Amino acid sequence: MILPIVGYGDPVLRKVGQDIAADYPNLSDLIANMYETMYNAYGVGLAAPQIGLAIRLFIVDTEPFSESDDLKPEEKEQLKGFKKTFINAKILKEEGNEWGFNEGCLSIPDVREDVYRKERISIDYFDENFTKHTEVYDGLIARVIQHEYDHIEGILFTDKISTLKKTLIKKRLQNIMDGKIRADYKMKFFNKKGR
Ligand SMILES: [Zn+2]
Repeated sequence: MILPIVGYGDPVLRKVGQDIAADYPNLSDLIANMYETMYNAYGVGLAAPQIGLAIRLFIVDTEPFSESDDLKPEEKEQLKGFKKTFINAKILKEEGNEWGFNEGCLSIPDVREDVYRKERISIDYFDENFTKHTEVYDGLIARVIQHEYDHIEGILFTDKISTLKKTLIKKRLQNIMDGKIRADYKMKFFNKKGR
């Protein structure tokens, strides 16, 4: 089932997500619905707050990035096979140089900005079978995980841009909040009543 994606301005996007237990109600259906919702919107990641749940759950599938021309063959291969569900994730360490990448977000349609993040992360998480993993990621995979991880901490990529750029997109963010925009997928807008 495709779920509406919560737009910028909804307070749920600002909540720190709660850990969930293995018996969280209908968890496998919820995860399946999140994948369907993400693929329908051509996203590479989706976090539970974006479908209205302040819990520590996000999904990543970097396959669309594997089409980029400026990647080495082994990088393409890696991105193609990377599909993972992260539950109760905790970033243990972020290391390396900060690098810029033009990020977007399904909750903030048609806004893209360069965001600077460290290149490598160590992360603890449980998969969809509640098996615990500790892993290290870098490059684009780390980037997508960092973006989604921010969502479960109540942080958006627009928080990480310069004051000038924030000013330039202010009107656009207000329009998203008010539902005065059109997206190619189903959305739920904070200030828009009756739909
Ligand atoms: Zn996002």
